[in-house]
Amino acid sequence: MTVLVIAEHDHAAVKASTLNTVTAAVACQSGDVHVLVAGANAAEAAAAAAKIAGVSKVIAADSASLAENLAENVAAQVLAIAGNYSHILFPATANGKNVAPRVAAKLDVAQISDITKVVSADTFERPIYAGNAIATVQSSDGTKVITVRTTGFDAAPAEGGSASVENAEGVADSGKSAFVGREVTKSERPELTAAKIIVSGGRALGSAEKFQEVMAPLADKLGAGLGASRAAVDAGYAPNDWQVGQTGKIVAPQLYIAAGISGAIQHLAGMKDSKVIVAINKDEEAPIFSVADYGLVADLFTAVPELVKAL
Ligand SMILES: Cc1cc2nc3c(=O)[nH]c(=O)nc-3n(C[C@H](O)[C@H](O)[C@H](O)COP(=O)(O)OP(=O)(O)OC[C@H]3O[C@@H](n4cnc5c(N)ncnc54)[C@H](O)[C@@H]3O)c2cc1C
Repeated sequence: MTVLVIAEHDHAAVKASTLNTVTAAVACQSGDVHVLVAGANAAEAAAAAAKIAGVSKVIAADSASLAENLAENVAAQVLAIAGNYSHILFPATANGKNVAPRVAAKLDVAQISDITKVVSADTFERPIYAGNAIATVQSSDGTKVITVRTTGFDAAPAEGGSASVENAEGVADSGKSAFVGREVTKSERPELTAAKIIVSGGRALGSAEKFQEVMAPLADKLGAGLGASRAAVDAGYAPNDWQVGQTGKIVAPQLYIAAGISGAIQHLAGMKDSKVIVAINKDEEAPIFSVADYGLVADLFTAVPELVKAL
């Protein structure tokens, strides 16, 4: 049977999370990999999906009902073709996690969440207890509805494939939800889950002003995304969408610099797969040092500006 990947896209381009999900789909070794691009005027995104290495067919469902990614409509679109597939994979992003449970419930199967490894076509690994244990789960369901932790899989090459594009009829609007508006934070910095370098600050920063004053110049110098611990977010030092961790974003950049972050397990759960971890903390006993490749026991208010100067 064939594996279906639900593309994450903005109607013009596919997002990086789609590429990691394709790699997981190929690993399922169940057969061909198809990609569903459910959108409105999304021919460009469908064409981009067709170039992903490993994909044999793109199903382009175009409908005004799919313009705003409403979960009810996207789920209906997936269900319209679900019968053809042994596996249906979503990136474990806010979007994917919004749609996958609806699809699993309607198919009356158990969702397999947040997989980090495909052991075989019916067996998968997924982190539990904030990443402190890895569960191996086996599913006997006829259709496996899966969300993929994107940091667990390399990105499939965005170029090199030559899949066919097949048009599918777009679903009608479910009428169950309506799009009201969207407030998008505009930032010059790279999006956290796609950033190659992340500079994160913790409660130690003490205020939103200090956070900006101390951390932003380092991020600017490195072309990095800005992240934060939950304590920093809860205290209002950094916006909510900067939170890294179990209840924030899961990231795995090439370089992660944590300044004034203690390294609670819930924070580590979101960043410990980073390739190189640098920690700056004035407490040499801070747990962040247990995962750090480079540790600096220092006051961040002097160490970070010195680092910026040296760069
Ligand atoms: C269910 C649940 C989910 C959670 N999810 C998340 C999550 O997604 N992400 C997350 O981050 N947390 C999460 N938490 C919270 C987590 O347990 C910690 O409370 C939080 O990560 C602590 O943030 P922090 O390290 O910034 O603050 P603190 O623990 O207060 O640590 C501050 C650190 O800064 C150091 N420091 C102080 N002053 C300086 C200085 N001048 N220079 C250098 N170092 C200094 C201190 O030595 C200390 O290590 C969650 C908790 C729960 C219960």
